[in-house]
Amino acid sequence: MKTFKRIAAGILSTALLLGMTSCATTKQTEAAPAAASFTTVESGKLIMATNAFFPPYEYYEGEKIVGIDAEIASAVANKLGLELVIEDVEFDSIIAGVQGGKYDIGCAGMTVTEDRLKSVNFSTPYATGIQSIIVTTDSEIKDIDTLLDGSYKVGVQSGTTGDIYMSDTPDNGGVGEDRVERFSKGNDAVIALTSGKIDAVVIDNEPAKAFVAANEGLKILETPYTVEDYAMAINKDNVALNDAINQALKELTDDGTIPGIVNKYIPAEG
Ligand code: GLN
Repeated sequence: MKTFKRIAAGILSTALLLGMTSCATTKQTEAAPAAASFTTVESGKLIMATNAFFPPYEYYEGEKIVGIDAEIASAVANKLGLELVIEDVEFDSIIAGVQGGKYDIGCAGMTVTEDRLKSVNFSTPYATGIQSIIVTTDSEIKDIDTLLDGSYKVGVQSGTTGDIYMSDTPDNGGVGEDRVERFSKGNDAVIALTSGKIDAVVIDNEPAKAFVAANEGLKILETPYTVEDYAMAINKDNVALNDAINQALKELTDDGTIPGIVNKYIPAEG
């Protein structure tokens, strides 16, 4: 529990720092036309890597990937005069792909963490996430402490912050590797929960709500949570693109576009 709060505080101060940095760089780039100064993996395109099983941030509507991230990235691409190309990949391959120059951005409800900042840079945060615990309605797990203390099996999406926190040792606020089951999609963890293979799923709050709504007999525990910032991962060498994206995010926030997109998908809270 203590660790949960400590991690969250660390992330928030990082985000604050990023926000401040972006304000400073924004001023400098305002004078020059941003479009001329950055390069992308493929000329004229903004290649976004995501994992499209994370509603309402990214999910399939028929053949099309829609959601908050898809729409924000599309608005950013428009501002930069680029065509958005979305690639649906495993969540835990996104950072390496951005770092290796395969994708321009990772945009996947991705939390800014100290560890990820060693491999990539992040845009200004554009949304907030909370780690939630899903259990069956008849579960004896009542709160985070019961979950941590017991011998329960916890399902997570591989490589996510839920995975990272839960895989940590008990004295660091996790349940330890032995009790964590990793799945490539959050929904697969939820299916394992409904069939009794695991006892809980730790996942971001918005997909948690969507999964609980889509499945009988599940609930989200009301218990202290970790608050996280979502941002776009960008290659560390592409500072010009990072600056241009931050500038676009700022304009799209100020003119109400981003709040409008969030409201459309999360009406009660956006
Ligand atoms: N916010 C979590 C993370 O960044 C989960 C993201 C996801 O599953 N798409 O690790």
